[in-house]
Amino acid sequence: MKLLEDRILSDGEVIGGKILKVSNFLNHQIDVAFLDQLAQEWKNRFSGSKITKVLTIESSGIAIGASLARALEVPLVFAKKHQSSNVNEEVYSSKIYSFTHDQYYNVVVSKKYILPGDKILLADDFLANGNALKGLIEICKGAGAEVVGAACAIEKGFQNGGDQLRKAGIKVESLAIIEKMDSNGIEFRK
Ligand code: 5GP
Repeated sequence: MKLLEDRILSDGEVIGGKILKVSNFLNHQIDVAFLDQLAQEWKNRFSGSKITKVLTIESSGIAIGASLARALEVPLVFAKKHQSSNVNEEVYSSKIYSFTHDQYYNVVVSKKYILPGDKILLADDFLANGNALKGLIEICKGAGAEVVGAACAIEKGFQNGGDQLRKAGIKVESLAIIEKMDSNGIEFRK
């Protein structure tokens, strides 16, 4: 989506070749009207999917998820990060490796908010190795809910998570896919 690619080129900052900082519209200051435009694009791409809920992870997925849920007129559920692996029976849980923080964390979702038969659209700000989305998929499986697809704003194609998920049959719709980035610039997948 050209709108997002242009915004990344004007406002994004590449840190050390692997991390893209987009703090002035997505990850710290949030351009809500801009996210609403992204949400309309996903609404078109997933039209006819009969989505019942959007599922993301706190905290950076929540803004994207909220715009998307508003556009689709469904609730947003976010998985909560949980310190201990000792989680109770009232929640679905999954262990996720974060490469940005180089550590594992547990995420939990109350069994009240993901139900068997739900048609779930996953959402996140970034897709890199795909661990966050795989964790959410595990939670949906545990709940007996169907994963309709994944809506990601920025995919770092060189980290392969998106292509692995597509090969596994998940409809992944990323609005900007970065093929290459370094201090000289950013190249998008055509
Ligand atoms: P994955 O689980 O796909 O490896 O990484 C996705 C998660 O890591 C996202 O939820 C996002 O918060 C974080 N992340 C991955 N890469 C980047 C990046 O380049 N910039 C920022 N700001 N977050 C990232």
